[in-house]
Amino acid sequence: MISTAPPVDTWLYPVGSGIYCEPGDFYIDPGRAVDRAVITHGHGDHARAGHRAVLATPETIEIMKVRYGEDCAGAFQPLALGETVNINGVSVRLVPAGHILGSAQVVIEWAGRRAVISGDYKRAADPTCAPFELVTCDVFVTEATFALPVFRHEKAEHEAAKLLSSLKAEPDRTHLIGAYNLGKCQRMIRVVRDAGYDQPIYLHGAVVALSELYQKLGIDLGELLPVAGTDPKSMRGGIVMCPPSALGDRWSRRFGDPVNAFASGWMRVRGRARQLGVELPLVVSDHVDWPELIQTVLETEAEEIWVTHGREDALVHYLGTLGRKARALALVGYGEEAE
Ligand SMILES: [Zn+2]
Ligand SMILES: [Zn+2]
Repeated sequence: MISTAPPVDTWLYPVGSGIYCEPGDFYIDPGRAVDRAVITHGHGDHARAGHRAVLATPETIEIMKVRYGEDCAGAFQPLALGETVNINGVSVRLVPAGHILGSAQVVIEWAGRRAVISGDYKRAADPTCAPFELVTCDVFVTEATFALPVFRHEKAEHEAAKLLSSLKAEPDRTHLIGAYNLGKCQRMIRVVRDAGYDQPIYLHGAVVALSELYQKLGIDLGELLPVAGTDPKSMRGGIVMCPPSALGDRWSRRFGDPVNAFASGWMRVRGRARQLGVELPLVVSDHVDWPELIQTVLETEAEEIWVTHGREDALVHYLGTLGRKARALALVGYGEEAE
């Protein structure tokens, strides 16, 4: 890269609620309504309603419409993964992030420099989305959701096998699987199908619309039936997908004595599982774990690493010990990932 080019942080920088590209006059994943937003993926802390124009993958646009309504942005510009668009002289390319269906890294090139804003991402296999693609760059912007050495996720296939053996061991108990309603829920269904489970899978009302959208977008999830209107007896010994918040609430009482499972990277922490009354923790995450995160950062060969949300301090400190230039962006509006 040309050494006389202006440093990336003179034209790409955080502005409170998102990252702003000055020459392109657009924001990436802004936390408030703006004129022009580039959206990495459909999760609530990245995709919000009310922008005048949204550029995203076709899948992310469909997800936003299901979550927020057809008119949730003034205009939509779909850009397929791998394609490039020029915005006011700035090159913008969307590259697979491997996080959920439609998720993209935003590759921005201007004045001889390249920045990659990865949004949320993972390196592990996921049959519901395109695999993460590594792009070398000058500045790599990364999340830090699980940026502590304690976080090591299990293979989803391994956890699915655990679930199936629990179903065999407890044939009279309904298995309630708490999973984030966008991405994790559909991935768990698909992985359980790949493990050979062909019974109908029952859905809490909060996971129906997005699961149907996944099916419509070509992700085969097998036979899905709504919990609503189904006799709880006929779900005994079966799988019910629900948002994590439904696990301990009134809704779950209809199942009698269910096995509560929760598919989340947070399940690595035993205390959390116990606290939430989770009998069957499934350590499955749609984010990089600690080894994957460090590996990815190094592979990008980035001169500088900017850290968005999660355990920023731990990651910045650790990268410092490796002699890497890293800084926390302190973006507003990103909470702990509900994943
Ligand atoms: Zn996400
Ligand atoms: Zn996120």
